Amino acid sequence: MEPTATDALIIGAGPVGLFQVFQLGLHGVRTHVVDALPYIGGQCIELYADKPIYDIPAISVCTGRELVQRLQAQIAPMHATFHVGQQVEGLQRHADGRFAVTTSTGAQFLSTTVFIAAGVGAFVPRSFPLSDCQQYAGTQLHYHPSALPVHPAGAVVVFGGEEAALGWAMALCAQGRSVTLLHRRTQLQAPESLLEQVHAAIAQGRLQFVAGQPIASTALQGRLCSLTVALPDGATQELPVDQLLVALGLSPKLGPLAHWGLALERKQIPVNTENFQTTEPGIFAVGDINTYPGKKKLILSGFHEATLAAFGAMALIAPQHPVTLEYTTTSKRLHRILGVD
Ligand SMILES: Cc1cc2nc3c(=O)[nH]c(=O)nc-3n(C[C@H](O)[C@H](O)[C@H](O)COP(=O)(O)OP(=O)(O)OC[C@H]3O[C@@H](n4cnc5c(N)ncnc54)[C@H](O)[C@@H]3O)c2cc1C
Repeated sequence: MEPTATDALIIGAGPVGLFQVFQLGLHGVRTHVVDALPYIGGQCIELYADKPIYDIPAISVCTGRELVQRLQAQIAPMHATFHVGQQVEGLQRHADGRFAVTTSTGAQFLSTTVFIAAGVGAFVPRSFPLSDCQQYAGTQLHYHPSALPVHPAGAVVVFGGEEAALGWAMALCAQGRSVTLLHRRTQLQAPESLLEQVHAAIAQGRLQFVAGQPIASTALQGRLCSLTVALPDGATQELPVDQLLVALGLSPKLGPLAHWGLALERKQIPVNTENFQTTEPGIFAVGDINTYPGKKKLILSGFHEATLAAFGAMALIAPQHPVTLEYTTTSKRLHRILGVD
């Protein structure tokens, strides 16, 4: 497959990556944005979607989700293309001077400039604790129910004890599958109404519940067929498994970014504050991922960084057209871009 050619690729669709779309858009640049999460919004959605933020200029209060919705509306005229649910894995300079970027789903890009807006790292699912089970990832081990084969006949084990695990287990029960909910502890955590449904399903025998720690797995002809679970009373139980669905939540991981050859200081990327370029010309770093004297990990700081990075990048994207500062209030060119002409 031919790589997608673009002037600007943004790694990370958190608030700063989204505002980067806007600032590049004002210069007439269309962007591609990649995020490991299956949705946009970064920490605002993943960590505090329903909590209030009070320090966004001119918005006295909004939730994380509302901020992302407002950013989404603001960047709509910029027609960015989003590639979610995939992690950027490779970033290296191509022979022609552009950057070759590859993702975990096999997407490939060739971009004149790259903007790393990777925050505290890619949000990826916490792994199943038995390392020898990783070989079944994608066939019998999954981190989201949408990845499960449709209507498998065998036993599904859902591992986890919080809202996602319980919700997924109930949804699979409703499809008539044979489901066991496996959690390290007897106590489950979820909204009251979901807990009631789960307890009712267990009582009616529609859902099996096992409290215990998986300590070993057994395979037959290359297929995972059971887990050995250490129970709280010291005994062990063999749990038949055909499909294993792991719901342990997400955690941020710096991941492949550490191997892109960029200078790093305590897992952050040093930048020149004139244009937020890294030590690699053409690669910019904005938001929580960067560091410089006086850096504060705040959304408004990231917005400022994205603005200057966009101006800086234009020297590489369109060197023949020196950029000038124009106001959105009065510039006819910007009005056309914003669709308010
Ligand atoms: C509980 C809490 C409350 C907060 N409250 C405030 C507040 O009131 N005011 C304020 O200004 N700030 C607040 N912050 C901080 C604010 O959320 C961050 O400064 C902001 O989210 C940084 O935005 P970002 O776009 O740089 O990174 P993020 O929001 O972290 O987004 C980065 C995105 O990049 C993706 N990513 C990373 N690596 C890759 C990769 N290799 N491939 C693909 N995708 C990748 C991640 O999945 C993620 O979605 C708060 C933070 C927390 C945790």
